[in-house]
Amino acid sequence: MHAFTLHNPTRIHFGAGQIARIADEIPAGSKVLLTFGGGSIRTNGAYDQILAALAGRTVIEFGGIESNPEFETLCKAVELGRAEHVDWVLAAGGGSVIDGSKFIAAALALDTDIDPWLIIGNRTPLKTAVPLGVVLTLPATGSESNAAAVITRRSTQDKLSFKSPLVFPRFAVLDPAVTRSLPPRQVANGIVDAFVHTTEQYLTVPNAASLQDRLAEGILSTLIENGPKTLADPANPDARANLVWSANQALFGLVGAGQVTDWATHAIGHELTALYGIDHARTLALVLPSLLRYRLNDKTAKLAQYGRRVWALSGGDRVVASGAINATASFFEHLDVPTRLSAYKLDAAEVAEAVRTQLIRHNRLQLGEGGVLTPDDCARILLAAA
Ligand code: NAP
Ligand code: FE
Repeated sequence: MHAFTLHNPTRIHFGAGQIARIADEIPAGSKVLLTFGGGSIRTNGAYDQILAALAGRTVIEFGGIESNPEFETLCKAVELGRAEHVDWVLAAGGGSVIDGSKFIAAALALDTDIDPWLIIGNRTPLKTAVPLGVVLTLPATGSESNAAAVITRRSTQDKLSFKSPLVFPRFAVLDPAVTRSLPPRQVANGIVDAFVHTTEQYLTVPNAASLQDRLAEGILSTLIENGPKTLADPANPDARANLVWSANQALFGLVGAGQVTDWATHAIGHELTALYGIDHARTLALVLPSLLRYRLNDKTAKLAQYGRRVWALSGGDRVVASGAINATASFFEHLDVPTRLSAYKLDAAEVAEAVRTQLIRHNRLQLGEGGVLTPDDCARILLAAA
């Protein structure tokens, strides 16, 4: 196990009725920028509960943060927050609203003579950020209690991230009831995103991090059990609660602590979203099985462990490792999340070349576990996902 430092300062309020706890978190008299997306919070029950909890605070609303939140939109929120002198940001939504709000919280506190785009890629030091709270409505990204955000600049087809301990949400409310209104496609996306967050930190060289391995296997097994249950029976409160908690824990920090990590699936996936607008999780399902097959030789031992413990496969290492990749792909397909580019009517050769060019432009030249994947390797991985 490698050395690690772990500090997750986000206070989590989990379960029914917990949106009311916002009243304990944001001081009375505060001026709160309430950020949200296209309006789902008005129909899933979150909005009314949030406004009730914010009684005694001034609320400035900023809606319209789109999926894969865009720099241009977020800058408008920063302008509004500055004009109104807000002292809190409260994000209500999925990963896009939360990530966008992390950017807003950081940009609000930035000197006005600094270009806020420099926050992306951590190209300007952040000294402080406006405190951020979250009401999660879509279990998927873990963004509600981590320090990362992914922001898109549509005009230049850049989908890039930044990380700062300053944008850890101060608190996050996870009430599974407000996820009840999610369409099946978003539920399935969330299952796949949480699944791949886990595999990115687990399907690497064995590292004697036994507890982290068991946590990862527990999260994957819980997703395999509760994901399809939630889709088949949306009213099942236990399945939904376990889905929300698994997605959170996948990217909370524990699974990857002291582990060798990979993250190439996400890096390639971000380019696919920037180029073709494919949902984040759907890009991961296109990349992961193909990437694992490409790296089967390096990852045989851990894939075999995964196959035995998570999919109950038996046989020699190589057979079980291959079987585990196939089981993963068929799990995604059963969720109606395609693992082949043909499902999007995309030409694999064109996609592979476009992504290769983007990776070079973004200076992502050594990706994945051990940094061994070049843009050429990534292109071959996509060709094999035709
Ligand atoms: P999302 O883009 O936040 O939301 C997808 C859709 O779901 C939106 O149309 C949204 O509608 C709708 N929705 C949300 N909650 C709903 C509810 N309760 N009922 C009905 N509809 C609801 O999806 P996401 O998968 O959570 O986030 C994806 C983004 O997160 C990507 O940009 C990805 O790169 C990023 N990400 C970040 C991290 C991280 O660690 N920070 C990790 C992985 C991915 P409204 O707009 O109307 O709300
Ligand atoms: Fe993700």
